[in-house]
Amino acid sequence: MKIILIGIQGAGKSTQGNILSEKLGIPYLSTGHIFREMAKEKSKLGRYIKETMNAGYLIPDDKTVEIVKKYLEKPEYAKGYIIDGFPRTVAQAHAFENGAKKAIYLKVTDEEALKRISFRNGNERADETPAAIAKRIESFHIHTEPAIDYYRQKGMLVEIDGEKSIEEISKDILRSIGK
Ligand code: AMP
Repeated sequence: MKIILIGIQGAGKSTQGNILSEKLGIPYLSTGHIFREMAKEKSKLGRYIKETMNAGYLIPDDKTVEIVKKYLEKPEYAKGYIIDGFPRTVAQAHAFENGAKKAIYLKVTDEEALKRISFRNGNERADETPAAIAKRIESFHIHTEPAIDYYRQKGMLVEIDGEKSIEEISKDILRSIGK
């Protein structure tokens, strides 16, 4: 089973992704994590990714699609996965017809997302400065909402109220995929 998780930063995608992974027995991965690892590399690409991420901008679509497709060729993802943070633009969604049946949209308001990010433990991430967070919220509305519409039109979208309790949300998600 292949599941796409979509939502603004702070919507709870990684919390729910990890719960789902455990319940369904399929791996969870996030492009944010992949890029944060790549940003540690002392190469030209590593430095470029680090700068782009820290400013809150998206990595260009062609690069992102290439990196994610290659990553998903690993044997552990052959039977399925829960992917968080990708596709994040309509162009990525078009380039990535991976046979996923559902795109789960965890819906929270910008205010709630902001509140959660600022209360996140320690807030030590270099890409979570107030300016980068503001850019990322803007980018969600500009680039990712059209991707959400794309999945809605394809009949793949499941909208989940992301402001309920963690337990209720995971029940809602499992119900939406027939589990
Ligand atoms: P996240 O942890 O999902 O907020 O991702 C952190 C950062 O990684 C983003 O702000 C982007 O710079 C980059 N990133 C993650 N996923 C994507 C994607 N699908 N397309 C472009 N950039 C991405």
